[in-house]
Amino acid sequence: MNLSITQGLSGLEKNGVARRLADLLGVDYADLVQKRILQLMGTQEIAELSRDGVDFQLHTHRHCMPNDEFLFQKEIEENRTCLRGMSQKDAVHFCYPSGFYGQQFLPWLKAEGVISATTCDTGFATSRTNALLLPRFVDTSGRSELDFESWLTGAGDFLAIRRAARQKYIPPTD
Ligand SMILES: [Zn+2]
Repeated sequence: MNLSITQGLSGLEKNGVARRLADLLGVDYADLVQKRILQLMGTQEIAELSRDGVDFQLHTHRHCMPNDEFLFQKEIEENRTCLRGMSQKDAVHFCYPSGFYGQQFLPWLKAEGVISATTCDTGFATSRTNALLLPRFVDTSGRSELDFESWLTGAGDFLAIRRAARQKYIPPTD
């Protein structure tokens, strides 16, 4: 079985590969599907949740960070157009896919009318933080309730002894 992502598989074919992999690993794939784990939302779900007040914002359309201005802007514009079709709103906030960020993206984001962007760097934003390089607390199932609450109160940032390394900074290519 060739699992290469360069095979140009359709979504349905990727689903088949995931199912076979889960079988090989003894993972209950049907249970994952039933619990909606590792699944994308559908058009109808996004439209409904948007009407109910959930705010959907930009993340690039193909979950990548092209190091080319034209391709990067294409990602933002396609993502915005797609979201607008479902939410009837213009998205102006951005989250760097996989936490990849770099200075070269800031003018490109501004040119696209993006007013804030979050990294995966753990920390609190202050009045001096660049709005296009916002740190945050990424909550995961590996975080304890106490850890989560400490960040809600601000103590988590103050007491953080060991911070994760800054995420995947991509230096400019020129
Ligand atoms: Zn993502």
